[in-house]
Amino acid sequence: MIPAGFDYEVADSPAHALELLGSSADAKLLAGGHSLLPAMKLRVARPSLLVDIGRLAESSYVRDAGVQVAIGALTRHKDVRDAPLLREHCPIVSFTAGEIGDPQVRHRGTIGGSIAHGDPASDLPSVMLALDAELVVRGSEGERIVPAREFFTGVFQTAVGAGEMLVEIRVPKLGASTGWSYVKMTRRAQDWATVAVAAIVERSNGSIERAAIALTNMGGTTLRATAAEEAIASGTPIDEAAALIPEGTEPPSDYAASAEFRLHLAEVLGKRALAEALER
Ligand SMILES: Cc1cc2nc3c(=O)[nH]c(=O)nc-3n(C[C@H](O)[C@H](O)[C@H](O)COP(=O)(O)OP(=O)(O)OC[C@H]3O[C@@H](n4cnc5c(N)ncnc54)[C@H](O)[C@@H]3O)c2cc1C
Repeated sequence: MIPAGFDYEVADSPAHALELLGSSADAKLLAGGHSLLPAMKLRVARPSLLVDIGRLAESSYVRDAGVQVAIGALTRHKDVRDAPLLREHCPIVSFTAGEIGDPQVRHRGTIGGSIAHGDPASDLPSVMLALDAELVVRGSEGERIVPAREFFTGVFQTAVGAGEMLVEIRVPKLGASTGWSYVKMTRRAQDWATVAVAAIVERSNGSIERAAIALTNMGGTTLRATAAEEAIASGTPIDEAAALIPEGTEPPSDYAASAEFRLHLAEVLGKRALAEALER
């Protein structure tokens, strides 16, 4: 379908982007366009003004930030996948960026767009939630840091308010005792996840002491599997704890899978993710 009519402006800096964003009540930022343009073609989104931030080279970076790695919101999935700093200090992020879509999607889509879009089927939001990442949001009043646990508020909804933009993503550097895994089940190689599980674990003497488990496509937003996390923290073996992973979720039924099958997948993939994180 052809999108409804809209105006188009190119931002030459983040400050300019915010100025343009504030000039129209239903303006939208355009980053890689790989989620927004399909939504406009379906007329699910009808912004009157598109503010193109896709050329802001200064907002595409991966930097050492002490105990964290800072990633500019306009960094493309391919560059996140290839960043040596992430591969060394937070490999779950680079690994997962490499699991997104196909080469065309990874060359255009951005980490900021992926996180700000708030799609419960997207991969990087779950990784951010499992890592307890920090999201830096900028508006006319300045910047604020939003913890990932408070960022994803509903289906296609996040803590980024009208007139604000996500400018940076901060992920922790993982120590030697920390294991990780992202296990994604798709119907076809380049699809969105039918279900996926992100696991970050703290290991001691060959077993898991603590785990952070986040679920993709198991509800209206990415979710933490808190019942399973609590069971692991109190010494329950992985296999038993994994049975608790679907607790509290409300997965959708759609062309890819029934809700019932997703509940089953969450347990099976969760078990695999925990076992892989223990070894990795
Ligand atoms: C064929 C195909 C397959 C895909 N497969 C996957 C997959 O397997 N896994 C997956 O996770 N994703 C997948 N995607 C989605 C892809 O990762 C998108 O690139 C991503 O979801 C959105 O990023 P974008 O830069 O394209 O954002 P855009 O489409 O430009 O924007 C998306 C939304 O976020 C807003 N936005 C963008 N940047 C910012 C910002 N910095 N601050 C605030 N708001 C912002 C926009 O206004 C818009 O509302 C796929 C997409 C396609 C087309």
